[in-house]
Amino acid sequence: MRASHASSAPADLLGHVPLHQERGPDVRVSVLLPLPLREAYDYRVPPGLDLQPGDYVEVPLGPRRVIGVVWGPGGGTVESGRLKAVVRRFDVPPMPEVERRFIDWVAAYTMTMPGMVLKMAVSVPAALDPPKPTIAYHRSTAEPPPGFKLTEARKRVLALLDDGPPRTASELADEAGCGVTVVRGLAEAGMLEPVLLQPASASPHPEWDRPGPTLSPDQQASADFLRQKVEARAYATVLLDGVTGSGKTEVYYEAIAACLEQGRQVLVLLPEIALSAQWLDRFAKRFGAPPAEWHSDLTGAARRDTWRAVAKGEIPVVVGARSALFLPYRDLGLIIVDEEHDAAYKQEEGAIYHARDMAVARAHLGQIPIVLVSATPALETQVNADSRRYIRVHLPGRHGGAMLPDVKLIDLRADRPPPRHWLAPSLKKALTETLAEGEQAMLFLNRRGYAPLTLCRACGHRLQCPNCTAWLVEHRLARKLQCHHCGLAQPLPEACPNCGEHGTLAACGPGVERIAEEVAELFPDARAAIMASDTLFGPKAIQEMIRKIADHELDIVIGTQVMAKGHHFPMLTLVGVVDADLGLAGGDLRAGERTYQLLHQVAGRAGRGERPGTVYLQTYMPEHLVMQALAAGDRDGFYQLEAEMRLEAAMPPFGRLAALIVSGEDAALVDRVAMALGRAAPRSDTVAVLGPAPAPLALLRGRHRRRLLLKAPRGTPIQSLIAGWLEQVEVPPAVRVQVDVDPYSFL
Ligand code: ADP
Ligand code: ZN
Repeated sequence: MRASHASSAPADLLGHVPLHQERGPDVRVSVLLPLPLREAYDYRVPPGLDLQPGDYVEVPLGPRRVIGVVWGPGGGTVESGRLKAVVRRFDVPPMPEVERRFIDWVAAYTMTMPGMVLKMAVSVPAALDPPKPTIAYHRSTAEPPPGFKLTEARKRVLALLDDGPPRTASELADEAGCGVTVVRGLAEAGMLEPVLLQPASASPHPEWDRPGPTLSPDQQASADFLRQKVEARAYATVLLDGVTGSGKTEVYYEAIAACLEQGRQVLVLLPEIALSAQWLDRFAKRFGAPPAEWHSDLTGAARRDTWRAVAKGEIPVVVGARSALFLPYRDLGLIIVDEEHDAAYKQEEGAIYHARDMAVARAHLGQIPIVLVSATPALETQVNADSRRYIRVHLPGRHGGAMLPDVKLIDLRADRPPPRHWLAPSLKKALTETLAEGEQAMLFLNRRGYAPLTLCRACGHRLQCPNCTAWLVEHRLARKLQCHHCGLAQPLPEACPNCGEHGTLAACGPGVERIAEEVAELFPDARAAIMASDTLFGPKAIQEMIRKIADHELDIVIGTQVMAKGHHFPMLTLVGVVDADLGLAGGDLRAGERTYQLLHQVAGRAGRGERPGTVYLQTYMPEHLVMQALAAGDRDGFYQLEAEMRLEAAMPPFGRLAALIVSGEDAALVDRVAMALGRAAPRSDTVAVLGPAPAPLALLRGRHRRRLLLKAPRGTPIQSLIAGWLEQVEVPPAVRVQVDVDPYSFL
């Protein structure tokens, strides 16, 4: 630790010697706090405290005490006598240097205050203190005190302890099916004796040397290559590219095994960990123990234990959502990003970042390999692989020779569903045949609820969310109208709120609930179910649904994108996409790419077992590039055309974009700031700023939103450009300006 001596501090000149200087040198450190602050603050190090960069500390901030991380030697100009002192250091391994550099890098790249990035890395302050031992009970030999009644519940608790280890009050209550007070009562009566349990020792570790399946020659070659990269302990980004079902997961398991063999940690990012039960099972079977999970559904205790164990290097494999990137890995040796093209990797709130891109940066800083896995890579990734910045490893066919599904287009202009029905006659016929064969079908519609729009047949009024630029969606099962943006829910009115007529409100268009209604009408004997994020409450329900489908307890599943993910359903041979055009509306830069990726992935659910699959896409635009490419199975042709279009328009990945979102509750004020930003915008021969314009969701959760879009050639240092731009405009506290570097969604 470098100490700085404040020899010419004003205190010296006046002849006052600060107390601490009598005891030793003036040591100060700069401490980054997980708060919206631009920089780290200097603190004095009290005598006897030896601090290293990366140490987690407690420091005073105004009247409060907050946690922080020692970011480096102090350097500020504040006179040391006026600096506040660090209160204490936490007994946990310091944050490794690579993570600190990563936090600084993410902050600079995304133009987020470093403290706000740090906040994601110290998301569990309780983990900084060692866990307290818990109190468990075992049975004492004491006789029941006089008058103590042995109720049935009490007897059950005692019986549990007659043959079992000591357990906590809540465990005993759970197992005995009684309240905790019953256990407490027994303890007070002296029938139970408390013992201190040390925190559970680490759970079993995945074993790298367990044999995996015999790999096909293609898989083996890919696995050998990845293994080599892991052993080289150097940075490399590898794109593992192969159709759904080609065995990519088995291949990257070999890379994980290689990393575990070196005794280093592995991070596996999955887009939606709540949907990943099959993945977790499979991992546990392959390696004999489950990985540690990291996502927002964990309990506080699990978060605390996991964070701490990761910091101490006691957890070898973490599988998690994007936030797992910011765990304090002691010695990270490999990152896997599965389904790397998935939009869920983009965090749109708070610090706006793309977890895949940040993961590549993390691998680079840590000099470790990263594997991006996808059957339909992001165009960015494709282009990087084509230009050899990334190394492409290709798995050509489905494992075991399973055929890719046959994709057929249904032209809804010719093959029309009956009025107020949504399934074309040819799709209905295919469904009938699939059911007759005893096989399974899935209908895909990426729209929750019953109907996306409710309108009054008398006056034409449309039911809209008061807080957002969005229609209210009818959820018939829940008997509600809902806004999918702000969560507003209200009962369906009896009368039109505009004209007051009764019985005139009509549902327009289908959501999954309405398709389920049609399925029940067409196939009353089929076992059908809806699979959408709002019909399944929590990961358990999703797991149970996935199991039911896999075990063929259902004939027809009607689902949103929660069912598009990498599930493996051997009996599923028919996929019908109800509205293949849905994602193409709106003119988003990535609309075509995303629609292709989503529909390809949905299609990939069909025919994964021994029976071949067929996919029907219902569309009004069968001639559209996306539909044609899907029908022809011509992925690379699609990417090439899409890339050419982007190149011509100088759009990402051939140009750069950044968005400024200006928002606030006062529309006039928001407009004023947006206009001022527009006037101050950097413009040149190569840099253009579009807007301000109302953001497509011009009203979101009660905030008015305007957007400015900066477009610049690739290689432009857009962060410094934007920083200079923002400096010129004063933003009142009631208005927020958010920077989205590399925007994905154009909401
Ligand atoms: P992907 O990740 O490319 O979609 P998976 O790794 O999930 O593909 O493989 C598809 C299916 O084939 C899975 O059920 C998997 O268990 C099986 N599989 C893949 N490779 C092998 C292998 N070498 N031996 C046996 N089964 C395999
Ligand atoms: Zn709303």
